Amino acid sequence: MFSFLLHFFLGWIAGTALQLQQATLWLAWVNLAGVFSSAVLLVTFIRCWHRLTLPVFLQCALVLVISAATAFFCCAFRAQVFLEKQIAPRLEGQVLQVVGRVTAMPQRMQENIRFRFAVQSAQLASGELVELPPQVMLGWYVNTVTNGPTPTDLQAGDMWKFSVKLKAPHGHINPHGFDYELWLWEQGLQATGYVRNGPKDNQPELIARSWQHPIERCRQWVRQRVYAQVGDQQGAGVVVALLLGDQAAIERADWDVFRATGVAHLMAISGLHITALAWLVARCVGWIWRRSDKWSKASWCLVLPAQQASWLAALLTAVAYSVFTGWAIPAQRTVWMLGAVLALRMSGWRWPAYQVLLFAATVVLIADPWAFLQAGFWLSFMAVSILFVGSQSFQFLPTLIREQFLMSVCMAPISLLFFHQVSLVGFFANLLAVPWVTCVVTPLSMLGLLIPLAWNLASWAITGLGICLSWVASLSWAQWSAPAAPLWMGLLSIAGMFVFAMPVAWWWRLSGALCIWPVLNWQTPRPSAGEFELIGADMGQGHAVLVRTSNKSLLYDTGPRYSPETDAGQRVLVPLLVALGERLDRVVISHQDSDHSGGANSVLKMQPQADVLTSIPSNHLLRTTHPMQTCTAGQQWQWDGVYFSVLHPQQADYVKKLKPNALSCVLRIESASGKSALLVGDIEATQENQLVQAG
Ligand SMILES: [Zn+2]
Repeated sequence: MFSFLLHFFLGWIAGTALQLQQATLWLAWVNLAGVFSSAVLLVTFIRCWHRLTLPVFLQCALVLVISAATAFFCCAFRAQVFLEKQIAPRLEGQVLQVVGRVTAMPQRMQENIRFRFAVQSAQLASGELVELPPQVMLGWYVNTVTNGPTPTDLQAGDMWKFSVKLKAPHGHINPHGFDYELWLWEQGLQATGYVRNGPKDNQPELIARSWQHPIERCRQWVRQRVYAQVGDQQGAGVVVALLLGDQAAIERADWDVFRATGVAHLMAISGLHITALAWLVARCVGWIWRRSDKWSKASWCLVLPAQQASWLAALLTAVAYSVFTGWAIPAQRTVWMLGAVLALRMSGWRWPAYQVLLFAATVVLIADPWAFLQAGFWLSFMAVSILFVGSQSFQFLPTLIREQFLMSVCMAPISLLFFHQVSLVGFFANLLAVPWVTCVVTPLSMLGLLIPLAWNLASWAITGLGICLSWVASLSWAQWSAPAAPLWMGLLSIAGMFVFAMPVAWWWRLSGALCIWPVLNWQTPRPSAGEFELIGADMGQGHAVLVRTSNKSLLYDTGPRYSPETDAGQRVLVPLLVALGERLDRVVISHQDSDHSGGANSVLKMQPQADVLTSIPSNHLLRTTHPMQTCTAGQQWQWDGVYFSVLHPQQADYVKKLKPNALSCVLRIESASGKSALLVGDIEATQENQLVQAG
């Protein structure tokens, strides 16, 4: 029995992994046939494996292959069914009249909102009825010109009629960047778009309010109450995030501090939160259950043993809490994991820990195969494994400190592998923040549901913590970053950390710790002397190009600003620069248009040593944030045998008050071997002709 299940789990995980590596799906009927035949094989095997006289290793191999094939085809088939409903290309960018329901609490971004919308019917301007994906993500931006309904009127459960423009999910394809498309896919969203509310559009129209989606409605009501009760928006945002799992409520500056100090995991409803709460409830229920004979006629234990009652209570708590916090993917994952482990315990089977983990991983992948591609999936399984492996070591440390130590030190290489960054102050910050948030702020936030005044206390408590953390984050050595190393180095360092966490002799531990050395010292290969390399980042609109020579780096333009909270600098360039381990020497911001200068602040904040060359006028707001030089034709420099020269604009062009596009700094780069590149910003035909004439 044992080895059958073990190989089934391994096979399932491998089959899912293999399918997710496929660039394209196989034909629909092939996948369907695959699902059918592998399922038949699996059932046949389960029914007759007792009678098989094959050697054990062959049996194991057989289970492994059949299980892998089943997972492989099931995953493909699910993807295919999902893709059946994708948005037809001809409908992208068209104005559509849609009627449908708001299915979740809208996310607020200042006055604007973003929300999930279940489409019930859609038609083109011509009146033709069209088919849309069942769930889409819509943005609604305030328009002060028209006086239709405003985004704040929108509530979960409402039925609305909108005029919208949609497009298929599209994320930026940058190495080491956030995979927005994958995120949308996992959420079941097959189109994104925005509500049109210009003067010429049909204004949004509320058709009916309803009590459908009552939980989401209730969450939204609680959020309004918190904001009304707590005057301070910043503090209220954190309370809302802790209580409702609405991470968009936390302001970006706060996120920066939380990330730098390694406590960001506390602010999201993580597996840790859910498990901790479930554990607490289990302890209380168990305690009450065992003493039930004191206040009831018969002990409840006769009906259900205390231990089972507490496990059941734990699972129910986890489900309830996850649902109330928005049933996000990481929370679902935790519920599946917890459910798998508790079911196992209730059944009375004693499995070794690694098999329990593999079982939990299989359950998670059956529920959501795409979790395999998420850092969160790996982080949670690694964290649990490390805690398990390390539970017998470092016995001289008190439990809380030991667990913190294991989490901060042993998870560091894993964090480096996924995020290329690790918080050096995280250990101390967590020692302070974990008990404070878990034992003071979160309970106060929950108490606020009964006594709203508690939300004010929670907000003060978080503000106090914020002051301490900001100070810690401002230390220059708070964060350590290392460029993305090759996979084998990452795997080696993870293996090393497991050895380090195990209760083994010190020389084993030392050698385990030494396995991180290659990762810490890795440097991304650079061009040889006299050569240069261009890296163009994908950022939708506008552009940014990284120029690297053997020792120096230049960034040409910084991409667009997406919204008041996000820009390409923060979303794309900073992660890319961290992953490459770049230290910029110079930034050229070709001109002031926001699709070229939008990310400048984020980039310069992270790379304060870089000098800046730009055509932005000296009275522009951006010039107050960082010292900048004006670019003029004739400026030139040489780095590692590569020649850089500014060809445009002329000194006289600045006096002529040309359009920003026409003033773009034009940079020519030439390698020692004569290869050259021209970066031109947004110059137009007139300037291009001037350049051609100048030769
Ligand atoms: Zn422009």
